[in-house]
Amino acid sequence: RSKSRGRKGYQFFTRAMNDAAAERLKIDQQLRGALERGEFSLVYQPIMHTRGRTLKGMEVLIRWTNPELGRISPMDFIPIAEQIGAITDLGNWVLQEACAQLQSWQRQYNRPLLMSINVSPRQFHDGSIVPKVKTVLTQLGLKPTSVQLEVTEGLLINASDRVLSDLDTLKLAGVHLALDDFGTGYSSLSYLRHLPFDVLKVDQSFVHEIARKSQDEAMVGAMVRMGHSLGMTVVAEGVETPEQAYSLEALRVDDLQGFYFSQPLCARDFERRFLAGITIDGQVLDESIWDR
Ligand code: C2E
Ligand code: MG
Ligand code: MG
Ligand code: MG
Repeated sequence: RSKSRGRKGYQFFTRAMNDAAAERLKIDQQLRGALERGEFSLVYQPIMHTRGRTLKGMEVLIRWTNPELGRISPMDFIPIAEQIGAITDLGNWVLQEACAQLQSWQRQYNRPLLMSINVSPRQFHDGSIVPKVKTVLTQLGLKPTSVQLEVTEGLLINASDRVLSDLDTLKLAGVHLALDDFGTGYSSLSYLRHLPFDVLKVDQSFVHEIARKSQDEAMVGAMVRMGHSLGMTVVAEGVETPEQAYSLEALRVDDLQGFYFSQPLCARDFERRFLAGITIDGQVLDESIWDR
């Protein structure tokens, strides 16, 4: 192998790699202890029934604000938390907090709500997910059917028997299982028949152009038909415009989620906008709550 040829490439890569590595290192350092320092918080984004546009539940999303780094996107720190083995503690914290919030909302507003929680494959691989979900639900007296776990197709690639049996255990207990970012992974569709998923979350990349690109419309239509034929509920994420919502409704997507309805909100704002003054069938009693 020619050394001189490799050298140019090497120099080119070191710069980019140094920046990325330095950034990674900073996140890695600050991530340790961040949970104990109370730097994480949760936000909630509504999931609406397509028909009637009433509230079905919410997806909980983690936020991190660090004194040195400022706000860091979960897309940047979740992969690092996974690599350094911090994701299980973090994921357990999310589960605990989100379920406690759900319990408080269900009691206060006396209505069923679905809390959808993102779970990392690591939480399955280390065997912590089933006992944690069981403990949290029991402690809080929550019905398993009020909780949904979102996993990506990555979990299913080379999934061990343990992962598959944990999915079955959760499903049998009544916990809803959603396949997140559906359509972006590499796994084949046939596996879906054998897995206990209740919900397909069509990735936002298909949703964004749906009102303009006929291919995306055809793709989503196919995903809806496939999901429905397997008895699954189909949700579209990343809905930003009324046109997109309309197209998705015409394609018979069951539930909608995205900035068109709301950005993810802190618990207090979510409650004010989506829970206070709304009856069990989702009708808004007091219109003034929509004023911010
Ligand atoms: P995700 O689970 O697919 O979550 C949806 C992401 O899309 C969220 O980004 C949400 O804020 C964003 N989003 C929602 N509606 C719209 C829209 O209409 N348009 C656009 N452009 N974006 C929209 P966020 O909060 O930055 O989270 C990014 C990813 O980080 C999540 O993707 C999920 O994979 C991961 N994540 C977030 N919270 C957690 C968590 O508690 N645990 C784990 N393991 N992963 C998490
Ligand atoms: Mg998700
Ligand atoms: Mg998603
Ligand atoms: Mg995503």
